[in-house]
Amino acid sequence: MSDSPQQSDDWTNCPEGVLTSLGHRLRVDEARDQSAQVMRSVVALGVLVVVGAGTAWWLTAPNLPGEITCAECHSHFAEYHGHLAGNATVDPDLATSMAHHLEVCGACRAKFKQQFPGALQAGLKDAGRWLSRSDVQLAWAIIRAG
Ligand SMILES: [Zn+2]
Repeated sequence: MSDSPQQSDDWTNCPEGVLTSLGHRLRVDEARDQSAQVMRSVVALGVLVVVGAGTAWWLTAPNLPGEITCAECHSHFAEYHGHLAGNATVDPDLATSMAHHLEVCGACRAKFKQQFPGALQAGLKDAGRWLSRSDVQLAWAIIRAG
């Protein structure tokens, strides 16, 4: 059972069909690579969609204690405008909720701006910047929960 050195160097013509099947195998591999690539793209897209939907949900859904819905926000527009203008007293909780909602909800912010042009600039800029800080958010959530 000794390997003769000639045997490994012994090149012969390929039997019929070997090259064809080799080519076929390469094409199959290629197709598999392509479908793997497509799968990766689909997975990446899926992740994007989930993250996007999650972000949209986080931005719009009332997921913090004390947070108000868009409908509630709309119903307090006039009150809150009076509060911003300094000629009405609003429940501090409501004022905070309104400020927060108008900060995170673009739709309500646009509507409020349309209804009371310029009112948000003065009042919300500071409150919004302060409220959007993550440490403030956390503290706020703890206070509301307790
Ligand atoms: Zn809203």
